[in-house]
Amino acid sequence: MIQASGLHKAFGAQPVLKGVDLSLPKGKVLVIIGPSGSGKTTLLRCLNLLEVPDAGSLRLGDAELRFQEGIKLRGKDVRSLRKRTGMVFQSFNLFPHMTALNNVVEAQVTVQRKSRGDAERRARELLDKVGLADRADFYPHKLSGGQQQRVAIARAMAMDPEVLLFDEPTSALDPELAAEVLKVIKQLAAEGMTMVIVTHLMKFAADVADHVILMDEGVIIEEGAPRDVFSNPKSARTAQFLNILA
Ligand code: ADP
Repeated sequence: MIQASGLHKAFGAQPVLKGVDLSLPKGKVLVIIGPSGSGKTTLLRCLNLLEVPDAGSLRLGDAELRFQEGIKLRGKDVRSLRKRTGMVFQSFNLFPHMTALNNVVEAQVTVQRKSRGDAERRARELLDKVGLADRADFYPHKLSGGQQQRVAIARAMAMDPEVLLFDEPTSALDPELAAEVLKVIKQLAAEGMTMVIVTHLMKFAADVADHVILMDEGVIIEEGAPRDVFSNPKSARTAQFLNILA
């Protein structure tokens, strides 16, 4: 489903990704962990071209792009790749002037050109799935952070993405509210949604991941099945990182 090879990204003179390879089969969950500043968010944002890599290649389903510094991508190619992904941000990013329902309806009508009726039906289904059927008419400021994040997940799902990307989806939430978001993500995993998740919650990572990668200073220093990475790390650096968190 996702195949990235040799991804490089620098911001000015600072290299942030220094040759990252990853692949993820359909229906699997990849979790990215690592210290702050190691390039996790940048890697995730490269997967839907919110950041354009300087070098390397990326395939998502049957859309493939190669990156080369100084060569601009065609808008059509960017859109073709990006529409296969849905992104859930740390800070929810709901449209504040729209109800929960309309947040989920909006892009279905404007981007997918669905009728209002069809979009609403799908939005209600998705709000039900994330446990918010009774909050459809609430504005974001009347919802808890956990509820807002669940609306954001429903909104991302409404675009029928082939892969969902999560950037620290619970880091702005108290543990209790985080738990309701994690439950929804686990449910999506059980249903076979392909997902890439950046998180610092190691227990959640161990629970939900099929594959874990540990980033440090712009490279993957360790990867594998969660039980191997967490219980039997190969490198001293991984052990040190996991110890700091334990
Ligand atoms: P992580 O998610 O692991 O904390 P990030 O990918 O957010 O790491 O950041 C890695 C490095 O890249 C940091 O030093 C950060 O300051 C820098 N960085 C990230 N985004 C930008 C940007 N848009 N412009 C300049 N520097 C950035």
